[in-house]
Amino acid sequence: MNPHHLRNLHGPEQLRALAERESRARTTLSFYRYTKLTDVDVLRNALYGEWNALGVLGRVYLAAEGINAQVSVPSEARDRFRAAVDARDAFRNVPFKFAVEDPAIAFLKLTIKVKKKLVADGLADDAFDVTNVGEHLSASAFNDRMAAGATVVDMRNNYESAIGHFEGALLPKADKFHGALKEVVERLDGKQDAPVLLYCTGGIRCEKASAYLKHHGFNQVGQLHGGIIDYAHQVAREGLTNRFKGRNFVFDGRMAERITDDVVGTCMQCGSVSDRIANCLEESCNLLLVQCEACATKYNDCCSPSCREIHQLPATVQHEWRKGRVTRSTLAKAISDPEELRQRIREEEELLALNGTLHPELTTLIP
Ligand SMILES: [Zn+2]
Ligand SMILES: [Zn+2]
Repeated sequence: MNPHHLRNLHGPEQLRALAERESRARTTLSFYRYTKLTDVDVLRNALYGEWNALGVLGRVYLAAEGINAQVSVPSEARDRFRAAVDARDAFRNVPFKFAVEDPAIAFLKLTIKVKKKLVADGLADDAFDVTNVGEHLSASAFNDRMAAGATVVDMRNNYESAIGHFEGALLPKADKFHGALKEVVERLDGKQDAPVLLYCTGGIRCEKASAYLKHHGFNQVGQLHGGIIDYAHQVAREGLTNRFKGRNFVFDGRMAERITDDVVGTCMQCGSVSDRIANCLEESCNLLLVQCEACATKYNDCCSPSCREIHQLPATVQHEWRKGRVTRSTLAKAISDPEELRQRIREEEELLALNGTLHPELTTLIP
């Protein structure tokens, strides 16, 4: 096959138009498995060919250690997708986790990337026994142990737990998995004999985190099997008490899905109660933040007066201004310290009132 047929060739606007025109129902689901894979590049191309033909969109990581996939499948092709996945020994019967809320557009294209590792943890594989994982717990078992007083630990990044988390959970301040691992071990040091319960979005990070904690002497480590996504399904199916409050941050176009009506977040700009998550729309910035509706209006969907000033300009001037500047495009660049942001906003508002602009260099660009 011509290698050009094995990747998406459309630009973002074209893709959005295609996605919006598409009327067929889609199912958003995710799955992962740690399993030894060989000839990963060959496998990658084979999967791309098969899944693309089924109309699958999404983001998939392959590594010698396994697969981690977030995809949206045309609902009529669900059974054929299941069969295509099961046709490979390495993936047979891998549990699918279905999205709690089905979005209009979760993904615009299919990307399958070959990576060194499924989750960037910054750890050497031979540093500890990655197969010595914590006990997998169902939602009801997780609830029971919570009720019995186990320490609950959120293994996600700070911007994920900012809009939803388990009641009373330890929430790491780190914005990367590696940092969260170290922080959790430090904060729980001395409690190695006490029961610890880990959870994350879909379960994959807890596989690594639970092995890491056990390596550091924790001897009663449990992990929520299937993560928050499957917890929500089990709670609904079995009529259990929902101990997760708020929204579950997800890594697709939806950004988050609502698990309960509780609003647990705080607007990073004004401090009011909010669990609305957004990226700063100024494309040279793109910072991820919790932003209430009022602040979104006030700052024109930007993180700060400085970004707003650029974002409000005619497209041609914005384009000129961006020349030679780095454009950030990663979702994961988040605000770790809202107080620092609020301070910056106050300073910028003062300067703006004083000078009428935060970007004096614009005078040369605006006709
Ligand atoms: Zn606000
Ligand atoms: Zn910004």
